[in-house]
Amino acid sequence: MNRLRHWLMGRYGYDELGAALLIFAVLMMFVASLTEIVFFMSLGFALFFFAAFRFFSRDMYRRKLENDRFLRRWLPARAFCVKKIGSIKKRIQYKYFKCPFCGLDLRAPRKKGKITVTCNRCKSKFGQKT
Ligand SMILES: [Zn+2]
Repeated sequence: MNRLRHWLMGRYGYDELGAALLIFAVLMMFVASLTEIVFFMSLGFALFFFAAFRFFSRDMYRRKLENDRFLRRWLPARAFCVKKIGSIKKRIQYKYFKCPFCGLDLRAPRKKGKITVTCNRCKSKFGQKT
């Protein structure tokens, strides 16, 4: 146990890029098992070995640079996806429509039947099916 601990000392270890590589590797191997296309299996193994190489690497500086480069692309993409998913959830929860009198964008909870809406801007009332 002490020898393993000693051997692991000074190794880079686990980071976000390593996690992404492992997830992608497993995904590729899963796709390969379904489609029996050798390319996906090879790509899965290549990604797995690259993740392992990074984990056991002693070149902290280079691994950190790789992770930073990955995060600069990944974080905005993730924020975009989270925002899109949030907007889809809102579209499921609410019905969006415009005030027929002033054109203000309004929303109302779905599945409430026909409701009477009072516009926030012009205070006019109109019926709306939700
Ligand atoms: Zn209005």
